[in-house]
Amino acid sequence: MTFQELGLSKELLQAVTNSGYTTPTPVQANAIPAVLNGDDVLAGAQTGTGKTAGFTLPMLHLLQPKAGKTKHIRALVLTPTRELAAQIGESVETYGKHLPLRSTVVFGGVGINPQIAKLRRGVDILVATPGRLLDLINQGKADLSQIEFFVLDEADRMLDMGFIHDIRKVLKLLPKKRQNLLFSATFSNEIKKLASGFLHNPTYIEVARNETSHQVTQVVYPVNKSQKRALLSKLISEGDWRQVLVFTKTKHGANRLTKQLETDGIGAAAIHGNKSQTARTKALAGFKDGSIRVLVATDIAARGLDIDQLPHVVNYELPNVPEDYVHRIGRTGRAGNTGEAMSLVSIDEEKLLRGIERLIKKDIPKATIEGFEATEKLSDLPKEKPQRGRNGGQNRGHSSRPQNSNRRSQGQKSGGGQRRSQGRGR
Ligand code: AMP
Repeated sequence: MTFQELGLSKELLQAVTNSGYTTPTPVQANAIPAVLNGDDVLAGAQTGTGKTAGFTLPMLHLLQPKAGKTKHIRALVLTPTRELAAQIGESVETYGKHLPLRSTVVFGGVGINPQIAKLRRGVDILVATPGRLLDLINQGKADLSQIEFFVLDEADRMLDMGFIHDIRKVLKLLPKKRQNLLFSATFSNEIKKLASGFLHNPTYIEVARNETSHQVTQVVYPVNKSQKRALLSKLISEGDWRQVLVFTKTKHGANRLTKQLETDGIGAAAIHGNKSQTARTKALAGFKDGSIRVLVATDIAARGLDIDQLPHVVNYELPNVPEDYVHRIGRTGRAGNTGEAMSLVSIDEEKLLRGIERLIKKDIPKATIEGFEATEKLSDLPKEKPQRGRNGGQNRGHSSRPQNSNRRSQGQKSGGGQRRSQGRGR
């Protein structure tokens, strides 16, 4: 399958070629024809699958004929976080480069007046987070009554973040006749209910759910809690890692770790919900351009972050929700690149680790670095019957049985320090 075969306009194909994409990803190969056909789409796809282009390209194609001829907002993309909104806005700009369509991004934490001014001049495509969008609507600055195309992105995270009422408010303001797309990594009953409430006879697309990328090497370092920070500094310094995204569970933890890394002479910045939007944007820009070596993030702030060829992701603390592990490590190994995901796991996180291994149907290899061995050993995963993956063929290459974690040879290097394999049943 090639992009040419999908039926996109020459202007869009030009933008795709300029982006360096040669083959559509599975979500693109499925979603683009369905959207071009005018169907509503319900897609089970997480970030890293190419879903943004999957909805942006056909959306632009459908909006193209009347480009520049109307004053009202014709397409709305609703997304949970500011960073994600900014990224989608960039994609709309990139793919729409050769089209006279106007777009803008609105989110909270920054001045509203420039957003109002942009809307007043007229935009075809609006990318928004729910809170700021409703503010603008309440002030009479945004009108959704002529929307032809509505995308609800990362619907599961929207609900996790408590946006359900805002979404319902927005839905009530949209005209009856429109095309709808919903993207979500997971499908709870609540999401299904929401979807059935506004999608009409949708085409259902599912790609690699709860699947960790084959391109990402995963490893767990069992370590004492008190040694995590020193181990992280060692891995970064000795491995000469230049760009590493580190996850902590709490905002406070992210701030503390950032300070500690700075003390160790490692340039770091934190990104989380308590930081001002200016600080978040600055941290992200510094991280992307290489001036900040370590970005310490909480799950929500990092959701959907797309950093080109990010080589290293570290779980300084495991997430409470196993699905977040998949999202976290999905920041690396994207778009055909390889990446490494490391988890520093203390004994009190053993249950969380088991939950993750059960979800990804894989035993993550364990390794230790000399001088950082955990005093208490993690126990074996309880043996489970091999299960068939939900995705059938999509699970190729992943064993559903626990793998032998002993496969890493002694002294194998993972950037920093000597990594020793650690047998199961330690
Ligand atoms: P997304 O899941 O939309 O966040 O996209 C993940 C990454 O994949 C982004 O960096 C895109 O630029 C990249 N990408 C999207 N589509 C393709 C494609 N067909 N080929 C290669 N890379 C792609």
